[in-house]
Amino acid sequence: MKKAKIRILIIILIIITVIAGTFIIINSKNTNQAVKPVSETKEDPLITKLKNEKYYIAKNLDRYLAYKENNDYELSKIIADVNSNLDKKRYEDVTETDTSNYNLMLVNKYYYLTEDYEPDDLVTLTSKYNLGANSKLRKEAANAFMKMSDAATLDNISIKNASAYRSYQYQVNLYDRYVARDGKEAADTYSARAGFSEHQTGLALDINNVDDSFENTDAFRWLQKHAFEYGFILRFPKDKEDITGYQYEPWHYRYVGVETAKQIYNENLTLEEYYAYYIENKKST
Ligand SMILES: [Zn+2]
Repeated sequence: MKKAKIRILIIILIIITVIAGTFIIINSKNTNQAVKPVSETKEDPLITKLKNEKYYIAKNLDRYLAYKENNDYELSKIIADVNSNLDKKRYEDVTETDTSNYNLMLVNKYYYLTEDYEPDDLVTLTSKYNLGANSKLRKEAANAFMKMSDAATLDNISIKNASAYRSYQYQVNLYDRYVARDGKEAADTYSARAGFSEHQTGLALDINNVDDSFENTDAFRWLQKHAFEYGFILRFPKDKEDITGYQYEPWHYRYVGVETAKQIYNENLTLEEYYAYYIENKKST
């Protein structure tokens, strides 16, 4: 009996020793792991460089790194592309537009308006300012456009609306017509799918003649110099086609308000880049 008792005691002691030993080892490992980063505070140089970029957004860090793996671009382009959602699938990875941003709402291939969205303050431009059938803009944008057109007239330049507000249904018909003519892939480069067209905001318009020849007109040159003074930006610039997702459109302008238009002009941004950094990012911090 005594021997058996001692044996059991020894076994219990061994078990306790093993458990305690394991516990100590695990604990010391954890402590080591916790201590390590403190003793090695050096950050990955790539991350440091990214953080020093002007338009760096902290919550996008993982996406910058993943995008950089597949795209050997300059860091400023990595930042601009990811901020503009180029690492996401167009028309698939999408979010409903926050229309409470009013003049700064973003509509593109990642942000959409619902079928029933229609601005509540659309006004019709008079024939003095208008060439086409889609002659409505939101009130503030319409006033700014008329002011701009009047100023251009004083310089002997004619600036008129060719197509402004388009309803969801209008965009459905337009896009379907282009797809029938050129196929979906080609149509997507120049025409927005319904819900994804900025024309549905009532803040965008096409000016004078809707073709590439507009670039070589005095009206275009005047707009290049003065549009931002009235709160309008050239929405799809030549050198930013990958970011906007659209071919260069010298005729398409978007109202964003004078202050924002000036900033976008001075910093050479698109609305995509501006929105990500100055609107969305600032909201979340
Ligand atoms: Zn347009």
